[in-house]
Amino acid sequence: MDLLRAQVFQNAACNWRCWYCYVPYTLLAANEQHSAWLGPNDLIDLYLNEPLRPAVIDLSGGQPDLVPEWVPWMMRELCERKLENDVYLWSDDNLSNDYFWRFVSSDDHELIASYRNYGKVCCFKGFDAESFAFNTCAEPRLFERQFDLMARYVEIGLDVYGYVTFTTPVSAGIRAGICRFVDSLQNIHANLPLRTIPLEIQLFSPVKARMEGRHHQAMHNQQAAIAAWQEELDVRFTESERTRNIADVPLGEGTGATQ
Ligand code: SF4
Repeated sequence: MDLLRAQVFQNAACNWRCWYCYVPYTLLAANEQHSAWLGPNDLIDLYLNEPLRPAVIDLSGGQPDLVPEWVPWMMRELCERKLENDVYLWSDDNLSNDYFWRFVSSDDHELIASYRNYGKVCCFKGFDAESFAFNTCAEPRLFERQFDLMARYVEIGLDVYGYVTFTTPVSAGIRAGICRFVDSLQNIHANLPLRTIPLEIQLFSPVKARMEGRHHQAMHNQQAAIAAWQEELDVRFTESERTRNIADVPLGEGTGATQ
């Protein structure tokens, strides 16, 4: 098994409350009893104090993009410490807001897009509006907005990846729903499904107390959805495309596979 060590820093806040979140809700509430105010210089100091420093720093959460300046600030701090070639910076995003566009300058957009050792992963919550709302407790109409946000990241040339969770309370119509989900990814870029990884929801300790019958059903239904996803990718991509290293799947203009 490949093993990748990473230093994870968490923004102790999230605007969603996914039932399967393995972070206790108390750590998602920006509660100062469970968190501290730290700047990029503090974080890099902590990182440098580690005796066995991993080569990856992950800006995670919660939802890191509630603080969208975090990424360019970390990039500048890494450059000032001459660590930009030694550390790979990775950040997560739950595709819930457009703060990156509203509160980050165009200069910082360019910095992020041109920074060599940076990748971003965006997590789609569910494969249709119903599973999205069930998973996040957010408004169903926000399901579609995930694709708009992802499209903008692809457009500016970020090295972007996707996660998706397939838990759904409804067992009917899964194959058709997955087909539409893959269509929506390919409307952004034909290769985007090859950069998207389904995450299997498992039962971690903080989740157990939240579980009701419909959640157990959703965990069961995700297996049918994952099988449908595999079938859909088999139909749309060749074996050699599917086995390509995910980091080598091109997302630039004119690199999309034809359907
Ligand atoms: S978006 Fe992520 S951090 Fe927020 S509640 Fe859902 S799983 Fe947890």
